[in-house]
Amino acid sequence: MSRVIFSRNRVKLKKLLGIRTRLALLALMLVAPLMLERVRSLEETRTKQLAQTSEEYKSLVQHSADTQREIISSVETILKSTAYIRAAGGIGRSCDVMRASLPSNLPWIRSVMIVGNDGRIQCSTTNTYVGIDVSDRPYLIKARETRNFVFSDFILARPTNTPLIMAAYPVSAIDPDSDAVILASINIDWMSKIMANLGGRPGISSVLVDSSGTVLAAPADQASRIGKPLDSVPLLSAIAHKALVSGAPSGSIAFAAADGSNRLVNFAQIPGTQSRLIVNIDEAKVTAAINREIRTALLQLGFVCLFVLFGALVGAEKLIIQPIEMMTGMAKRFGEGEWSARVGRSKLPAEFVPLARAFNAMAAQLSQREREMVATNDRLTVMASIDMLTGLANRRGFQSRLDFEWMRSQQYDSELSLMMIDVDHFKLYNDTYGHPEGDACLTRLGETLSGIAADNMGFAGRYGGEEFCLLLPNTDAARASEIGEVIRATVQSLGIPHATSSHRSVTVSIGIACTLPNETQRPGDLIEAADAALYAAKHRGRNTVVEHGFVKLVDEAGMALAS
Ligand code: GH3
Ligand code: MG
Ligand code: MG
Repeated sequence: MSRVIFSRNRVKLKKLLGIRTRLALLALMLVAPLMLERVRSLEETRTKQLAQTSEEYKSLVQHSADTQREIISSVETILKSTAYIRAAGGIGRSCDVMRASLPSNLPWIRSVMIVGNDGRIQCSTTNTYVGIDVSDRPYLIKARETRNFVFSDFILARPTNTPLIMAAYPVSAIDPDSDAVILASINIDWMSKIMANLGGRPGISSVLVDSSGTVLAAPADQASRIGKPLDSVPLLSAIAHKALVSGAPSGSIAFAAADGSNRLVNFAQIPGTQSRLIVNIDEAKVTAAINREIRTALLQLGFVCLFVLFGALVGAEKLIIQPIEMMTGMAKRFGEGEWSARVGRSKLPAEFVPLARAFNAMAAQLSQREREMVATNDRLTVMASIDMLTGLANRRGFQSRLDFEWMRSQQYDSELSLMMIDVDHFKLYNDTYGHPEGDACLTRLGETLSGIAADNMGFAGRYGGEEFCLLLPNTDAARASEIGEVIRATVQSLGIPHATSSHRSVTVSIGIACTLPNETQRPGDLIEAADAALYAAKHRGRNTVVEHGFVKLVDEAGMALAS
């Protein structure tokens, strides 16, 4: 049972895995790895590109941070030297020196100020600041507390409302008795300019944020963010938070943002400050071009596979299936007896030509044999209806000719006569002259009869033994009697000696029957009538012709015997 199921499944599988499917699979097996390899290499390029971008930005961030640090250092130097002057020379001199020495090559410093012990600006390179009370500023308080350099968060300058950050250095770091603090306001624009090389790339945003998360600087294309807290930009605030809480001075963080995008964040703390430079890379946007390429490659893969599949199917159809179907059709026609069916080689692929040639040769041989067989059959059929001794039709041949003439006479409504001719005392002839001589006699009688038949458009045959017959189409009883008489006389005139016959030579007795063939009679009836007439002729002493009077008798009393 399981074997049956197995072989059934195998048949199904074979059907499924026909030539077309196999070729299609083969084509796909050839193409798919190549295309998949292309997609894989693009994927690899994407990963590399992302890593490269990240690395590039990491170094840019570091570079920017270092530059920012240089700015801070230059500010620190200015503030320290001013503090020294303040500690050494009092407010008047230090103010003059400060005003005179504010280097024009440090454009990021907007103004330098000296804050007195009372927390008011005593002296400033920008005159309008003098007298402003800054004692409540956290950076001032912190500088006094720590007695060290302090860098403020983002602030708005009170008189001008301009965004800036403040650097503070307490004179107490040099002279513990002084509460004065040196301040410098730093132009944020300059910080942004330094970040210019971090901007202009889609999917990448970079900001410098202070400890509270306010944007201090950004490249020109993101300048609108300056002065705003990152809280207003949800995604960036999350990114900044990640950078700020990490605690590390620099690093990279990869995470999936709330909008589902994959983010890569590089950040670096500006040494000596709480500010951090943050670069946020949106993986999807950075890799958009290569993603597009991968999509195109996948699309190409699909198209190439479809094309190859189509090509394989068409190829299989044209090169294999169609030739096979063509040859199968031809073999079928040949099998149905169309002997002239041959495969046209011109339409076939070269590989099928030898097969077609072999098929055509086989077909030619078979049709030749068929022709020979038909001819042999015809010969056998003829031989089966001819009597070998006399060359006349034998009983079988005669019978079929009678059927044919019967039908024809019926069709043309013409009379048909039949003559039965029997050699008289032939047994005695054999006994007297021997069987071979008897045969020779029969041959001669056959020839004679054949000649007379030809003269009268008749058909002669050897009915059996020493009995002959003559069929006379379109011949009435009177004419048949005349011909019968001719036969009888001709045989007698042959003068074949027959010593044991009363006539001293070979003679024949003839019975004649004639009819108008119709539906009510059969050819056998005509034979019977002729036979009856022959019987009558024998009865009348032989060497005689008797006509049955077939038609007349049938009219009167059917097929009754003549005697
Ligand atoms: P009847 O006049 O009444 O016809 O007498 P018959 O002797 O001719 O008739 P019968 O039927 O008694 O004998 C026919 C003979 O014909 C017997 C047979 O030996 C002979 N015969 C039949 N066929 C052949 C043949 O092919 N060759 C030879 N030599 N003799 C044949
Ligand atoms: Mg006989
Ligand atoms: Mg006889």
